[in-house]
Amino acid sequence: MDDCIFCKIVKGEIPSEKVYEDEHTLAFLDIKPVNIGHTLIIPKEHFKNIYETPEEIACKLIRAAKKISMAVKKELKADGINVTMNNDSAAGQVIFHTHVHVIPRLSSDGFGPWHGRRDYADGEAKEVAKKISQAL
Ligand code: 5GP
Ligand code: ZN
Repeated sequence: MDDCIFCKIVKGEIPSEKVYEDEHTLAFLDIKPVNIGHTLIIPKEHFKNIYETPEEIACKLIRAAKKISMAVKKELKADGINVTMNNDSAAGQVIFHTHVHVIPRLSSDGFGPWHGRRDYADGEAKEVAKKISQAL
């Protein structure tokens, strides 16, 4: 896609600090890291989000995320790693080229876990699980 920042990074039109590359995937440092070493893993081909990304490509992204998580944890002495993906604006997606975030976490970073947890009403969890599993 011509006006996609990540496609431009793949083509070398925008510089990036690359950490990993194979036939289908590319990983580079996020320009505004949550913590030092925050890495993005993208397919070289343009897909908008997880829904449009073929399963084989999604598997390759996760394979790379595992390798990179282990390297980041070891070399940057991270206490933990978040592997996340934002899909759609409502979930915080800003760049509409599929990407996985590998975010090193430090016990001292103060970001904490997810906010806004809630409880299920009686029977609600069973109903929701059924809805999701039947749509697969
Ligand atoms: P999203 O919110 O879409 O999941 O995350 C997009 C990420 O891309 C953000 O964390 C942002 O800092 C990163 N980003 C945006 N533009 C660039 C860029 O030009 N180069 C790099 N390396 N990262 C970028
Ligand atoms: Zn793109």
